[in-house]
Amino acid sequence: MVFDSTAHADHEQVSYFTDPETGLQAIVAIHDTTLGPSLGGTRMLDYASEDAALEDVLRLSRAMTYKAAAADLPLGGGKAVILGDPDESKSEALLEAYGRAVDCLTGRYITSVDVNSGVEDMDVIARETDHVVGTSDGLDDPSPITAHGVFHGIRACAESVYGTRSMADHHVVIQGLGKVGRSLAEELLADGAAVTVTDVDDDAVDAFAREYDVETVEPDAVYSRSCDVFAPCAIGGVINDDTIPRLDCDIVAGGANNILAERRHATVLREQDILYAPDYVINGAGLITVAKEYFGGTREEAYEEAAAIGDRLLEMIELADERDTTVLEAADAYAENRIEGGERTSTTPL
Ligand code: NAD
Repeated sequence: MVFDSTAHADHEQVSYFTDPETGLQAIVAIHDTTLGPSLGGTRMLDYASEDAALEDVLRLSRAMTYKAAAADLPLGGGKAVILGDPDESKSEALLEAYGRAVDCLTGRYITSVDVNSGVEDMDVIARETDHVVGTSDGLDDPSPITAHGVFHGIRACAESVYGTRSMADHHVVIQGLGKVGRSLAEELLADGAAVTVTDVDDDAVDAFAREYDVETVEPDAVYSRSCDVFAPCAIGGVINDDTIPRLDCDIVAGGANNILAERRHATVLREQDILYAPDYVINGAGLITVAKEYFGGTREEAYEEAAAIGDRLLEMIELADERDTTVLEAADAYAENRIEGGERTSTTPL
């Protein structure tokens, strides 16, 4: 009962692809192409069931629509899943078959890297379709540009809370010293901030602390560390019922995806007078970079657009104040407003 199902009622198109020769089973979900072709990564996972895979791809493609709209990009939201254990089933032939599947959507869906799909996989997919970004011919690692957007987002939050964008003498605690966390720490230090870092990888923390003037904190103690800004840059779900009572900060703003364990935690943070910068807004420069790659542009241009995240976030914070609601609600409203006022492009026949 496909058309009776409410699960994908708000999606434009959900396509299933199989290729018996290579064992390919994939679902591509196109949520909304009002603002442009849909873009989102391809995730390969051994899902517990077909329903679980469908649920995941529908949720993720919807989120991409909001992320693209909130980044002021001419893009819609889409996502894809390949069902199967990557260690057992991933092969060049399967990825080529998947590339042909993407190609038959004629540019309504553009794919990229995600969980268990990397640059080498995109190179194989690119043999069969032009509608792929994140290849080795692309704009290279987006992480420093993502961090640049997060940095400007944090400065916008500081302006709202402290009346100044300068981070001089403000204390930021960064959770996760990976590709995004390290670059963010460097930008904050250059702006005069005091920085405390943590990571489950002790060696990464030690090496960073030898190179830079930072404090360190144990991963478990990070939530209660007194600071101005807590910047999660590691994993999702870190703001939850257990951690919120321990927080001693004014702002939560970081690069990680799905920072809130549940949507309602945005309200709980607001009730505690903590400003939360929605993750999908503040980490949007990764998407900005791959969009640049698809439409043609440079890393320098991507850096400039990443910096604009600050002003856009401030607009959302002001909208939230006006409406007496969370910045998350305001960000969703900003995105929906763009989509409602948007014009369909030549690549969107619907
Ligand atoms: P990464 O894998 O390079 O770094 C993650 C770091 O977090 C690692 O050093 C890891 O050891 C550490 N870590 C894991 N669990 C931890 C914990 N419990 N406490 C402390 N540290 C922990 O990843 P990344 O590319 O830097 O991305 C970080 C986050 O930002 C992810 O949530 C990612 O989805 C998100 N994100 C990244 C980009 C990008 O351009 N790289 C874009 C948008 C969103």
